[in-house]
Amino acid sequence: MKGLSVKVRITVGITLMMLLLSGAVLVCLMSISRSVTVQTAMTQLSQAVQSNLAYVDVDDGALALDDGFQFYHSGVYTLVYSSTETLLAGQVPVSFTASEPFSNGETRIVDVDGDEYIVLDLWVASGWDDGVWLRGIMELPEQVQTSRNILIMTMIALPLFVFLAALGSYIIIRRAFRPLDNITATVSAINDTSDLTGRIPTPPNRDEFARLTDTFNGMFERLEDAFESEKQFIADASHELRTPVSIIKGACEYAEKYDDTPEERQESISMIHRQADKMSRLISQLLSMTRLEHGTERLSFERCDLGELVEEVCAEADCGGAKLHVEAEPELTASVDTALLGRLLRNLVENALRYGRPDGDVWVSVSRGQNGEKLLSVRDNGIGIAPEQQEQVWKRFYQVDPSRSDSSGSGLGLAMVRQIAQTLGGYMTLESVPDKGSTFTLHLPEKADENKK
Ligand code: ADP
Repeated sequence: MKGLSVKVRITVGITLMMLLLSGAVLVCLMSISRSVTVQTAMTQLSQAVQSNLAYVDVDDGALALDDGFQFYHSGVYTLVYSSTETLLAGQVPVSFTASEPFSNGETRIVDVDGDEYIVLDLWVASGWDDGVWLRGIMELPEQVQTSRNILIMTMIALPLFVFLAALGSYIIIRRAFRPLDNITATVSAINDTSDLTGRIPTPPNRDEFARLTDTFNGMFERLEDAFESEKQFIADASHELRTPVSIIKGACEYAEKYDDTPEERQESISMIHRQADKMSRLISQLLSMTRLEHGTERLSFERCDLGELVEEVCAEADCGGAKLHVEAEPELTASVDTALLGRLLRNLVENALRYGRPDGDVWVSVSRGQNGEKLLSVRDNGIGIAPEQQEQVWKRFYQVDPSRSDSSGSGLGLAMVRQIAQTLGGYMTLESVPDKGSTFTLHLPEKADENKK
């Protein structure tokens, strides 16, 4: 059974069940019908013999049968035997060849070469030690024989019945399973061609197969999205890496051909250095994001004072001419991976300084929000972001205006910030007005740190 298809297995199961049930019903019907018929025949036999009893007279050893005595009536033969079991009167049915011993008052079935008879003996006493036997014999009615024949015929017709039952079941099951074949065919086609745009046609009935189809189609939708964004990511990453490599190659060739003085060579080396730094930063950002996305980044959660962490990050920041203000609610702690949270804050502060005014202000604050949320905000009064671009800036490699970002920008910073926020169990929000400034806020829900432990 193991190697067989589900359809064949169900067919075999149903056929066996049908066989068992119909067999059981048939046997039940047969035995009830037989016992009713036998019971009726026995009553009939007993009545016939009993009614003849009144017409038997044995006087001084001489048998006298009155006129009412019926030797044959309604299929019942009545015979009279002497006490020594010699037939005195009546005719034994021709086919009743058995020499059945006498037994007073016992109605029984006697099998004579496959034919069944009912026999009843009654002792008619005369004086102390004499008398005659009255024997009733009746062939079992046709009906019982017919039942037997039906049983035999059913046994013979059983193979055909089994075949038809199996065939019928198989056709019905195959039709019911057709949507599954469609699902299998479409999934195989998608698997073979790797074309994730294919969808399984939804079956007309809203049954289990329709729900399975919806689930598969939903899965293909998500796979297609993930595949597309992965393709885009690889294309963008290659593009971003190709640019510094081309610059480095160009600088090397130029230096070989035209750089004569040590100053000229130093200038080329500095340019190569800058581009190599950019590549190295990009590669570590890509690696870090991939680890975060796949959950393979090693994390160590510990309770930390958010104000202190903010102070540390701001102290390291290169502010240029801008002013950095820290507003931290005291003793506000959370269980976080400090390295990750530090990376998130550094990214936001660097962006605020980069896209803020050269002599502008940047405010970094730590506070408690609604429902006990812990909020970390970085606000600047710089160029701001247009409303239609506020959702885009979170995408990998997206830069609003690459010419405004210095050479260190790659468009990966905010994508990583959002990924870190999710890893810490929180989320990011952005409020921004062009030419007024932007506020990036990390929301750490009250329970997020405990969930992450
Ligand atoms: P980049 O490496 O270009 O800074 P990010 O992912 O950090 O990449 O930012 C994506 C884009 O969002 C930037 O190119 C910039 O245009 C915009 N942006 C980020 N932070 C700010 C900010 N504080 N003010 C204005 N624009 C910003």
